[in-house]
Amino acid sequence: MTIEFKTPDEIEKQLHQVQIVAENVMRPESRMLDDSEHARPLNFVHMMWPQMREMERANLEASLRRARNGSDSDNGAKPKSDEPKKPRTANLSLVHMIEMLSWGDAGVYLCIPSSALAGAAIQAVGTPEQKERFLRRFTEGEPKWGAMAMTEPQAGSDTSNIQTSAVFDEETNEWVLNGQKIFCTGGKLAYAESDGLIVVWATVDKSAGRAGMKPFVVEAGTPGLKIVKVEDKLGIRASDTASFVLDNCRVPADNLLGESGAKSGGETKGFKGAMRTFDATRPIVAASAIGIGRAAFEFARDTLAKQGVRMDYESPRWKLTTVQADLLDMEIQLCQAWLLTVKATAMLDSGDDNKLMASMCKVKAGKAVTVITQKAVELLGPLGYSTQTLAEKWMRDAKINDIYEGTGQINTLIVAREILGYTRKELK
Ligand SMILES: Cc1cc2nc3c(=O)[nH]c(=O)nc-3n(C[C@H](O)[C@H](O)[C@H](O)COP(=O)(O)OP(=O)(O)OC[C@H]3O[C@@H](n4cnc5c(N)ncnc54)[C@H](O)[C@@H]3O)c2cc1C
Repeated sequence: MTIEFKTPDEIEKQLHQVQIVAENVMRPESRMLDDSEHARPLNFVHMMWPQMREMERANLEASLRRARNGSDSDNGAKPKSDEPKKPRTANLSLVHMIEMLSWGDAGVYLCIPSSALAGAAIQAVGTPEQKERFLRRFTEGEPKWGAMAMTEPQAGSDTSNIQTSAVFDEETNEWVLNGQKIFCTGGKLAYAESDGLIVVWATVDKSAGRAGMKPFVVEAGTPGLKIVKVEDKLGIRASDTASFVLDNCRVPADNLLGESGAKSGGETKGFKGAMRTFDATRPIVAASAIGIGRAAFEFARDTLAKQGVRMDYESPRWKLTTVQADLLDMEIQLCQAWLLTVKATAMLDSGDDNKLMASMCKVKAGKAVTVITQKAVELLGPLGYSTQTLAEKWMRDAKINDIYEGTGQINTLIVAREILGYTRKELK
């Protein structure tokens, strides 16, 4: 696999548009939306929806074409054996966009109307029929959201401990879900404020651990799901983080993602499906982290430059002031994290196994953004700590990237297992 360091022209063009939105729609509302935690960024939502709808449509059509033709290429055509394959860039385009949107405001970006994590799960393990049925809605009509619910009070990092149960009812040909989910990003938007959906992970056999875990689609408004709480949080406060209970929530048999109608769930993709979802979404979280880190770095750099402290790329390190060395380190961390993220994403686009790189970029970016934003606050002194600027907010927004989609520690374990060849049991 080769990495092209020049950003493709079509992505550059798209990024220019996204930057305009980030500067003119997101940043001006950042402070207000942080202060009023559960307000919705409606200007942003309506501005982004047409573009997101088109992106969802393109992804869905490409995925259905690939399934129809058994092809890897975006247009679904089977390449002739001697014809070089045109590289897919859908995920590359997405991480660029998310980096820029998170530079604008990471909490507001998380309110973007899209199939989000639910879409990633459906794309990873759904059948073509399920993709059509569940993802088509994101290509039309009013803004919609998707969400994915795995975490429970007793099951965060240890997903094998999921207690939400799914029992098949032969008479009605439905799955009956019971349990509790917490910290579900976009959960309320998906279930109660739009015609969206939530992918709920439940177990069909508690004694089977991870092997018993299956993904079920719960569509907006399905009776039996009740939103019980929306979190007040440290950062990304514009983002909706919901808890809900499932009380005899019934979904049709073929809402179990994978081969429909598998009553025991045994034939469908379970935990491995979840992991495939993460291979796609961890680089996205890394990109979001990098966007926040870049916002803090650029702001610190430009503010200090006005006070006569300039970046120095020419002098040897021992000649730099401590502040100059700190700024340089912040930029280096960003570059390292970005290169890993682009590599993980390029592998995903080429259909290569990117599990190691997906976790590696997530670990690196999650740590980098935490350090960079703290350093920005430190270098800016009282201005960094005060709410006059967004520096303190970026520091609060940063930390989540080291928590969700697998914490820094869990992703470090995955990296270690992949490099050293240990199994989950051997290294935990
Ligand atoms: C704002 C927000 C949004 C979220 N959105 C979603 C969502 O949309 N969907 C969803 O399903 N979940 C979501 N989550 C949940 C998130 O994925 C979990 O918080 C995360 O997986 C960690 O689980 P936990 O909180 O139970 O922590 P725990 O698993 O209890 O871990 C606590 C600490 O122990 C460490 N630890 C645990 N096990 C090990 C180990 N084996 N070795 C070393 N260290 C270990 C962890 O790294 C962590 O530092 C969200 C969380 C937040 C805060």
